[in-house]
Amino acid sequence: MLHTLFHALSRLALQALPLRCLVCSEPGADGLDLCRACHAALPWNDHACPVCALPLPEGDPAVSCGVCLSDAPLQTAAAATFVYAPPVDRLIRRFKFRQDLAAGRLLSQLMLQRVPPFLTEPLLPMPLHRRRLRERGYDQALELTRPLAREMCLPLWQGLARQRQTAAQSGLDAEARQQNMRDAFAVRIAPPRALTLVDDVMTTGATLQAAVHALQGYGLRRATLWVCARTP
Ligand SMILES: [Zn+2]
Ligand SMILES: [Zn+2]
Repeated sequence: MLHTLFHALSRLALQALPLRCLVCSEPGADGLDLCRACHAALPWNDHACPVCALPLPEGDPAVSCGVCLSDAPLQTAAAATFVYAPPVDRLIRRFKFRQDLAAGRLLSQLMLQRVPPFLTEPLLPMPLHRRRLRERGYDQALELTRPLAREMCLPLWQGLARQRQTAAQSGLDAEARQQNMRDAFAVRIAPPRALTLVDDVMTTGATLQAAVHALQGYGLRRATLWVCARTP
């Protein structure tokens, strides 16, 4: 209840403010808290593996990367709006760790400028553990996904829960990440046959893979991923 109120008030506060570039503090443009120069310099991830969203070297054909060819991931397609690079990395950290909801709103608006072609299924924001939610006061993946669902007229599906507090993924290698994520999720409601999982950042994809794996045990047939930024 308090959270909902906080949310409504912060949205009102945001709407009342003039647009201001969150990167360089110049006036914003085109309905965004971002100026045109900073918009033009964003690290869009337009040339990437269609299966895991890994940025591909310029000149390479936009087909499955070597990693996906040798060890196919559980999802059928993935898109990342940005490469995890300045200034998007800073915007994500401000949104995630410094309560900067304006940064989150901007990131959602930018994701909507590159809607992946596969987007027709309900959206599942990657769940946050309850303890983290209490510490942070809001769930960044949900905040990011809500405007996407609204704009795209797609339902939100939230039948997945984080059931075990996992160690921070940063600093762990790929194998340790996978171990860390085992049994991290609980499926609370039978999922639809197809879902698009949404998250802020995809690094190795171990967290998303673990979520898809858990859901596939309950009948999910087709998983796609849409993240704001992908580490190269
Ligand atoms: Zn700017
Ligand atoms: Zn790939």
